[in-house]
Amino acid sequence: MRRGFAAGFAAVLVLGAAACAEARSAADPWAAIRVPVAGGAQSIGSPAAGCIAGAVALPQDGEGYQVLRPQRNRFWAHPRTVAFIQSLGHAAAAQGFGPLLIGDLGQPRGGPMSFGHGSHQNGLDVDIWFRLSGQPLDEEGLARPEPVSMVSGTKVNPATWTDTHLRLLKLAAASPEVDRIFVNPPIKAEACRRAGGDRAWLAKLRPWWGHDEHFHVRLSCTPGDIGCVPQAPVPDGDGCGGELASWNTKPTLLPAEAKDKPNHRNPVLPPACAAILRQPGVVEAGVR
Ligand SMILES: [Zn+2]
Repeated sequence: MRRGFAAGFAAVLVLGAAACAEARSAADPWAAIRVPVAGGAQSIGSPAAGCIAGAVALPQDGEGYQVLRPQRNRFWAHPRTVAFIQSLGHAAAAQGFGPLLIGDLGQPRGGPMSFGHGSHQNGLDVDIWFRLSGQPLDEEGLARPEPVSMVSGTKVNPATWTDTHLRLLKLAAASPEVDRIFVNPPIKAEACRRAGGDRAWLAKLRPWWGHDEHFHVRLSCTPGDIGCVPQAPVPDGDGCGGELASWNTKPTLLPAEAKDKPNHRNPVLPPACAAILRQPGVVEAGVR
């Protein structure tokens, strides 16, 4: 009897521990998956609550770019996102920008991440660092890169921000598949000041917290991708007026401890994502 009670109590403890482990992060099973689901690419849900089938890996070294922190296995995305980065790298190389440093894209099947981003879930988001090193980084530099902020207080930092950064943002915004680009508010303000008469592209620059060391490019849903949930369109106009001014009173830089912190969000994913998570991947299916 006593033994039975002890065994039962132990079982409750084990179950409790399992429940706790599950509660730690809904993202864990997504982060644990190493390979995508094969087949045609399909973004499902939104960047902040979604997943992707048929993701492809951004090649580690292409013309005009390098992939940062490959050990994170966050270099997967929709083929359009990969093509966009390759074409931006090509254009940057042609203009002499030096290799672009590509930060996180998404996990092999997208989904929530156990640390860092709340978005990057449906294969349409990519972070591109502002740091332009001029020379390719070596393996250690890529694995543990040092970010460089473009912002000091409420302005761009004249010691780090250059016209090349403005040209790079304009180049990225010029791609028709780019829906919006998140940047720190002083960066948007500087772009507004310096853009001159060509202002249509400024609408895509969206002021947001952080994003002083990198800009975050979000592609629009792929036409015909019916499960992809688009974001509300960017507002009309160049976005250089009242909305931007509303950021003047808020702190916009994230404290160091806020970066890459564990993610306790638990987004409700579309039901199709549960099936994506369960499917065998290219490699698993191949070794059967
Ligand atoms: Zn991002």
